[in-house]
This record gives sequence, structure tokens and C-alpha cells, in this order.
Amino acid sequence: PPPVGSPHRLPSARPDAADTSIIRLNAAVLAERIEAGGVEPFFQPIVSLMDGRPCGVEVLARLRLADGSLIDAADFIPLAEASGLIAPMTRALFRRIIALKERLRPLYLDFLAVNLSRVTIEQLDVVDVLQPLVTELKGYCHVIVEVTETAVCHDRHLLQTAAAQIQLQGASLAIDDFGTGYASLRDLAEFPITILKIDASFVSEMFESMKAMTVLMAIIGLGQRLGLKMIAKGVETEAQRDLLFSAGLEFAQGYLFGRPGELAAIERMIAASRLS
Ligand code: C2E
Ligand code: CA
Ligand code: CA
Repeated sequence: PPPVGSPHRLPSARPDAADTSIIRLNAAVLAERIEAGGVEPFFQPIVSLMDGRPCGVEVLARLRLADGSLIDAADFIPLAEASGLIAPMTRALFRRIIALKERLRPLYLDFLAVNLSRVTIEQLDVVDVLQPLVTELKGYCHVIVEVTETAVCHDRHLLQTAAAQIQLQGASLAIDDFGTGYASLRDLAEFPITILKIDASFVSEMFESMKAMTVLMAIIGLGQRLGLKMIAKGVETEAQRDLLFSAGLEFAQGYLFGRPGELAAIERMIAASRLS
């Protein structure tokens, strides 16, 4: 058995102490990395449940540190938002997507989804940031803006204006993690939303609780009645996929179909789906 109470193992025995990325990342490092081109787009497939083919992607930001390691969005987006760096981060990310457009064209993706949090929308000029992406990808793939619920919206009027601008640019608006956070039923009536992304928690809990299943079915029913496209998130098992398909859901995303990765992984996936 391992030595118990070995003195020099004690301080680092906490599991969180192993996560040095948190320690190495602060606003100054983040600013330097954005400047140095360290923001990278990762792509996760969104598949049609009808035939399993990838018909779209969600872009998830990653941060490359100077030592080559990669930080997940969940571990630096909150810092970017809190330190006023979300606007330069988002611009840098969109430039990288645009630089890949000639590789996106032959994939014939129906859509490419990007994330903008409400904080972001309040901080930046949506037209200014979004216009280059939508314009450059015109004829390549339709842009979906996923509005995430990381903060309470302070100014509904501002959000309304931003939503109208997003629509005017020719992009579509999706509510991310619908059914959790601060998204409300009122949003569905007030904003020009055309897509609902159903939170992964409903999917992961649907076989565990009858209540979770009932809520999930009610959301799907509501979305259908409103004529919205719906994407289920966090699909990890075939049983989840099959049930969502029977419930009438069109699109799904999750580790079952593919993890976020470099564009090459999407290219391989689409090449393989054309052969089958
Ligand atoms: P999100 O929009 O809810 O993105 C989905 C997150 O769940 C991603 O984490 C993804 O890697 C993970 N995921 C995907 N499929 C599965 C699955 O089957 N099971 C499980 N357990 N997880 C799965 P990631 O990349 O760390 O992103 C975290 C959050 O950061 C995103 O949540 C999004 O809100 C935000 N984010 C990512 N990129 C951007 C960005 O460019 N701008 C802004 N404002 N926020 C971003
Ligand atoms: Ca999202
Ligand atoms: Ca989320």
C-alpha cells in the first residue's frame, strides 16, 4: 500500500492542485496569448438524427499557452469576460474561422454555430464583430449565434437591439442551454429566436427521473409548436439518441457523435459519411 501521510505529498495531494492551467492563467497571460494568435477554433459536429450525418458544427474556443498546452473554453471564457478581453478574444477567434473558409466550403455544412454570451453582447458592438464572419462565410455556411446564459441580462432593450442586428446580418439566433439558467419563456416571445439548444442535463437525466423526462418532452413539444429547430446537447449514449429521435428531435450534438477537435476531424467524419 502507498505510504500514508508521507509529508512531502501532502500539499499537492488535493486534486485541484494538479490543475496548473488555472494557476498559469491570469488576465495578463490571456491578453498576451490573444495577441500572439493563441486563440484556436475547435469544431464539434452537430448531426441530423434522421441519418446521423454531420450537417453543422459548433465552434468552441480553445486557448494555446506558450508551452503548447491547450485550455478549454470553460476555463478561460469567464476570465475573458471578467477582464474585458472577450471582445478581442472573439475577434481573434472569428478571424481564425474565416481563415479556414476554403476548407469549410467542400464540407457543405448547413450551418456553423458560434457562441456569444450575454455579457459579450452587452460589451461589444455585435455588428462590428459578427459582420466579417457572416459576410466571409456567405455561400459557405449559415451562421448561427448561440446566446449563452452566463449572466443575468441587465438591459433587455440592448439585447433586443443586438438580436435584431444579428437577424439583419443574416445570422440566426439560438438560445443555448434552454431550460436552465436565465433563459425564460418570455425570451421566446420577445426575441427572434429560431433555434433551441436543449441543455445536456435534461439528456443525461432523462432515463433517471420521470420528472426530467416529462420536462424534456414538454420542451420538445413547445419547440415544435413554435416551429423552432431543436438541437439536443450532451448526447453520449445510443439509448439517449434513439429516444430523442423518437420524440421528434431533428439534431443532436455530443461525445457519441464526436468531441470538439480540429477541423481535420470534421473533414474525416464527412468524408467517411459520404462513403457509406
Ligand atoms: P456550451 O456552449 O454549453 O458548449 C458545450 C460544452 O460541453 C463544451 O465545453 C463541450 O466541449 C462540452 N461537451 C460537448 N459534448 C459533450 C458531451 O457529450 N458530454 C459532455 N459532458 N460535455 C460535452 P467547452 O468547450 O469547455 O465550452 C464551455 C463553454 O464555454 C461553452 O458551453 C460556451 O458557453 C463557452 N464558450 C465556448 N467557446 C466560446 C466562445 O467562443 N465565446 C463565448 N462567449 N463562449 C464560449
Ligand atoms: Ca454553445
Ligand atoms: Ca453551457
